[in-house]
Amino acid sequence: VAYKFVSIAAVHNLLEHCLLSTVMTFDFSSWPPSLPEDQLDALTLLATTYALSHSLLYLPPAQQQPRLPAAAIHAPISLFPSPVPRRLFELARWLQSTYNLLYARIATDVEFLDRVMGAVEGVGKVDDFVGQLWMGWKQLREQGLAQPLQLGLFRSDYLLHAGGELKQVEFNTISSSFGTLSQRTAALHRYLFASTGYYDAFPGMKADDFPPNETTTGLVGGLAAAHAAYGVPDAKILFVVQSGERNVFDQRLLEYELLEKHSIHVLRQTFDELGLNASLDSNSALFVSGTQISTVYFRAGYTPTDYPTSAQYTTRFLLERSRAIKCPSIALQLAGGKKVQQVLAEPGVLERFVEDADARELLRASWMGMWALEDGVQRAREQHSKLVLKPQREGGGNNVYKEAIPPFLDALPEAERAAWIAMELIEPPAGMGGYLVRSGAESAVRTEVVSELGIFGWALFGGGEGRVDEKEVGWLVRTKGKESNEGGVATGFSVLDSVLLV
Ligand code: ADP
Ligand code: MG
Ligand code: MG
Repeated sequence: VAYKFVSIAAVHNLLEHCLLSTVMTFDFSSWPPSLPEDQLDALTLLATTYALSHSLLYLPPAQQQPRLPAAAIHAPISLFPSPVPRRLFELARWLQSTYNLLYARIATDVEFLDRVMGAVEGVGKVDDFVGQLWMGWKQLREQGLAQPLQLGLFRSDYLLHAGGELKQVEFNTISSSFGTLSQRTAALHRYLFASTGYYDAFPGMKADDFPPNETTTGLVGGLAAAHAAYGVPDAKILFVVQSGERNVFDQRLLEYELLEKHSIHVLRQTFDELGLNASLDSNSALFVSGTQISTVYFRAGYTPTDYPTSAQYTTRFLLERSRAIKCPSIALQLAGGKKVQQVLAEPGVLERFVEDADARELLRASWMGMWALEDGVQRAREQHSKLVLKPQREGGGNNVYKEAIPPFLDALPEAERAAWIAMELIEPPAGMGGYLVRSGAESAVRTEVVSELGIFGWALFGGGEGRVDEKEVGWLVRTKGKESNEGGVATGFSVLDSVLLV
């Protein structure tokens, strides 16, 4: 079904319920109540055993593995779900369709992307990685791309702000991970609630305060829709993966469901393997080791370290040139950059993509203040204690926060400013606690935490007449210690968590 904006009446209803409700009755600093050590140990044992029993797993570091994996460790987890106001959770899920449509439109707006990338000192000019992708895409466009359809598996990330608002951290258009493991984490928390009496310590908690999480089926639905649109039933889906990936179970669970529910086979290859095994036929159909590929799903290629030589770019461009549907296309990957997020917040830009004024109001209400660093270096210095600076990078660990900003600005060459944006810091509820469990730790660690909500969605688009098939398909929560600026489970800052509606 092609997307339509919901009626204005429905939007006003939402506005009233979500945005205008500043009263938050939940006391975050009371969460979670303290447990005596013996109960905590018993609960931790139940949790880690459940995680190990239900593929809530990671591979151990490479040096602890034989050539073929022989053991796994449980993923870092939170013992209790994190409170999220019901209305903000509903708002985040509702917004996802609007975001799906917005990013589909950005990715098909060549003129807009070229302007953001290619202005005199655009990011494509000053950031080598972004520049390589942009220039490669431009060349391929001129030759004519074989596949107009594009698939996005998205994740829009949010923090609660100032007691009663939902604010977007970023919108991911490539390698949006932890969909399947977040479903398992939600199931873990439901299991702990059902199986123990410890939750009795939490007054008023009910089973329906744990929202359903069917993210695996949802994401697989997006991949299967692209596969069906390609129209060759016995073609396979290609997962492009990093060598040495430890988060393989999160990916494999998608693969198993594709086979079990849709009879679609998956091939996993790295860029280096594809350099040897991938080729195009005279109709630009992509073949890998003799098998036709319907859809290319990237769980690699989002960071410069995935392209140590020009050979990996050559492989990326070969895939881009092919008739297989890319998830994402280079255009959609570029659309997910922080620079685009910042430009969208400039006056008048959102109007280009979203015609409905109420939908624009809801989108803008979900944003913090942002500006191009080159347009406001002095302002960034003055306001550094309430700011984060972000480059055009994904995967965590790239941002500059607060008091690190002035010395960073002193050292940053003027020409490189265009690669960065400044963003106001979101202020999540203070005093919320969590019990975090990492593999190999003696026990759960209680600490003050910040929880980041992610909403998954997909969009299949580009086929003409502005048609966008899209869906909101699930959610995740990642929780980090308050003292850490960064999040990121893969980078070791965060643990997997789930939602408790309050
Ligand atoms: P990446 O693409 O590397 O994940 P993010 O924009 O998500 O980059 O930033 C990484 C982390 O930094 C986030 O998960 C969040 O914890 C923190 N962060 C980013 N932007 C903000 C912000 N505006 N306010 C508070 N924390 C932020
Ligand atoms: Mg992020
Ligand atoms: Mg990101």
